[in-house]
Amino acid sequence: MDNLYDVIIIGSGPAGLAAGLYAARARMKTLILEKDKTGGQIVSTDEVANYPGSIQHATGPSLIARMVEQAEGFGAERKKDAVISVDFSEKIKTVTCRNEEYKAKAVIIAAGARPKKIGCPGEDKLVGKGVSYCATCDADFFTDLEVFVIGGGDSAVEEAMYLTKFARKVTIVHRRDELRAAKSIQEKAFANDKLHFLWNTTVNEIKGEGIVESIVFENLKTGEISEHAADEDDGTFGVFPFIGYDPLSELFKGKVEMNKAGYIITDADMKTDVSGVFAAGDIREKSLRQVATAVADGAIAAVQAEKYIESIG
Ligand code: NAP
Repeated sequence: MDNLYDVIIIGSGPAGLAAGLYAARARMKTLILEKDKTGGQIVSTDEVANYPGSIQHATGPSLIARMVEQAEGFGAERKKDAVISVDFSEKIKTVTCRNEEYKAKAVIIAAGARPKKIGCPGEDKLVGKGVSYCATCDADFFTDLEVFVIGGGDSAVEEAMYLTKFARKVTIVHRRDELRAAKSIQEKAFANDKLHFLWNTTVNEIKGEGIVESIVFENLKTGEISEHAADEDDGTFGVFPFIGYDPLSELFKGKVEMNKAGYIITDADMKTDVSGVFAAGDIREKSLRQVATAVADGAIAAVQAEKYIESIG
């Protein structure tokens, strides 16, 4: 059976690619399935400063390109085919994709997470028309314009700093009066003249016909509602929400154990509650979601998958 693999890895971010590298290097017939783009969220990152060994302005895309080359070099196969359902009830697992059905002795779920939405009126309608979840992809469109970044964590602050290289003015809109971001990141942000802060504030609505034209804020301390309209000469501005992530685990609901937020529960060996099914990276319940922890998860999952396959003969 051509479509029978030792291991199928769902997702091609750092966790999936590390799993692919380890699995293929262990001479397992390995398939990495990716939905639309290779690399996961790290591809949207301009600078990966905290991945050990990654220095001198390493970018997310360059790191991923090297990971892909390495995994393929060891023989991992990659296919672009979106998974639509999985069946983990038999010894041989089935992964059904839009184009084909694949089977494997073990499956590693490394499907990652996606940016959370604010959920306010206008947000969905204006995605790609001023609202963006990827500074690296879209910063250029906002050259010399104004930009609002929503959130106060590492992502919001780092991406806001990146956006200052393009935008005329970048304002971080945060629902509290202090940032959640790491102190080292905060220090750089407070020293950046182009960065401004709107504290204790949330976004109630984003307005515009075909393009972002105004944004409605609520001050959570005073209850005051205010509307900021685009500068007349500009006609528009950018809105970049970076308010955390949701796991991409819908497909696996009822198939493997998850917590309330939808993150897959594993043990320290990346084993889920189903024999032969492992999870790695951001989709897993864990305390730190970083490239460093994702690749570690991927390596462990692949080694454990190999042991599992040996055990079932
Ligand atoms: P995060 O740490 O969960 O921060 C989310 C931010 O958005 C928080 O400031 C939160 O406010 C705010 N927020 C959440 N829901 C909101 C809502 N509905 N409306 C308005 N604001 C909302 O997410 P993240 O910054 O994306 O980071 C995710 C993980 O990746 C973290 O573990 C982070 O350390 C890691 N990361 C690390 C780096 C790095 O080390 N260089 C870079 C990027 C990400 P509150 O603060 O009030 O909760």
